[in-house]
Amino acid sequence: MCSVSLFCLTSAANALPEHAPRPGGTAVIAVATANSDAAPIVMFDDKRVLVLRREDEWVAVIGIPLTQSIGPAKAIVRIVDQESSTITFEVKPYAYREQHLTVARAYVDLTEEQLHRAGRERKIIDGALTNWRDVDLSDLSLLEPVAGRRSSSFGLRRFFNEQPRSPHKGMDVAANLGTPVIAPGDGTVTATGNYFFNGNTVIIDHGQGFVTMYCHLDEIGVEEGQRLTTGMPIGKVGATGRVTGPHLHFGTYLNGTAVDPALLLAPAD
Ligand SMILES: [Zn+2]
Repeated sequence: MCSVSLFCLTSAANALPEHAPRPGGTAVIAVATANSDAAPIVMFDDKRVLVLRREDEWVAVIGIPLTQSIGPAKAIVRIVDQESSTITFEVKPYAYREQHLTVARAYVDLTEEQLHRAGRERKIIDGALTNWRDVDLSDLSLLEPVAGRRSSSFGLRRFFNEQPRSPHKGMDVAANLGTPVIAPGDGTVTATGNYFFNGNTVIIDHGQGFVTMYCHLDEIGVEEGQRLTTGMPIGKVGATGRVTGPHLHFGTYLNGTAVDPALLLAPAD
């Protein structure tokens, strides 16, 4: 991919994701000049949006839900001592792949107890994924949490026995059982647990609604509340939860919505 090394250096140093205004993508929009130290407050879908300073302007980085309709979308910008204004951006279509699988009924039909358990865990997970922590950010680029082949499965529309399931909200990275997983950026651990679908899971809060999630771990190596710096080990690749083999499910979230991790990772060699 990188034939000219200067280009690679520049890409790797990109602090912001690309402007990829599609369902499951990111809209990166300058919303105000940075002539005040007070960052504007930006809201999308009633959720607060990450804002950071880029040279002399404030830039909003909006996570666009996979369910977003194509066409114009609006965000609200509030600047101190000014009336709020609206910014509009165009969400463009993107063709995510489909996967049709025939699976054993026991895999699809959950017992009542399993449904209850998954529902309880959903609340814990959603709480961690939608947490807002005020912190200044300057760089959103992430290291690879684990070395391995990156699938392009984010957004994959899955059908089990021809029943549509929710689309795949992360990137699966193929790696052997026990391969160390690292924190790809600074943050705080906001949830750990063994969940029905996701298996052993770690959720890291990087601030301002930027959250990452690591699932199906063999071992969890961190505790809730622990502060992490880039590169610290957080666990090991496993096959816990509802999976068919060892891999890391890596999820990245902005304003509570899953976005394609490929947009935040430094490019692969
Ligand atoms: Zn996955």
